[in-house]
This record gives sequence, C-alpha cells and structure tokens, in this order.
Amino acid sequence: MSCTRCDEPTVDLVVPESLQPYAQGATVSVCTNCLTVEAGEGGSGHDLDAISEDLPEGDAGVGTLLLVDLLDSLATNRADIEGLIDEIEADGADPMLALDRLANDPGLDPAVDIDRRRTQLEQLVL
Ligand SMILES: [Zn+2]
Repeated sequence: MSCTRCDEPTVDLVVPESLQPYAQGATVSVCTNCLTVEAGEGGSGHDLDAISEDLPEGDAGVGTLLLVDLLDSLATNRADIEGLIDEIEADGADPMLALDRLANDPGLDPAVDIDRRRTQLEQLVL
C-alpha cells in the first residue's frame, strides 16, 4: 500500500483493544513518511520501527500515532485526545516526549505540524 497523501509506503498496524475507540478500526494503515493514519486492511503488523525508531514501544507507540492524527483537529477531537493521552501514560510512556521525538525525526515529513500542535495541546490539557 502507498499513502494517499504523499505516495510513500504505509505499514498496517494492529490497534490494541484499549485504543480502538480512538482508531478507525482494529487495524490502521500508517504512512512511513507523513504519518497519515487511514483505516487498515487487516493483517497483524506491529512494525513500529518501520515508521520511526523514536516511537515508544508497543501499545504506546500505536497510541502516539493515533494521537498525531487527532491533533490535526485539536478542538474537535479534544475528548478523544485526552482519553488517548491517558491510555499512552497508562502504557508507561510520556506522550509529550513521544510527540517531541517524532517532530524531530529527520526521517519523517509529518502532515501535521507536530511542534505547533504539541504547544497547543500543552495549553489545552495541562
Ligand atoms: Zn504519506
């Protein structure tokens, strides 16, 4: 599969049950370049490193990618964003730190301005 936005390869990721309320389904397809999240086509992928080695491991890494997608519409998605942040923290990761690392990964060209959204997010939830 390739990304509908930038044509770069995507990876399918399994969405853990706890995060499915924030996703478009049981799997999502995530672009390895711009981080656009689309509904997945099934599969059993867990290859977060294909996207960024700076992502938290496991469920928190998937949660971080879903969070980036929701940040595109911060006001609309506020309730989901707050829920997702709680889930990421429950999985033992720091969502703000994870966003910061993604924003600074030279291998990525995120569709969402993560730095700017992260600043807005801090004002919203902290
Ligand atoms: Zn893309």
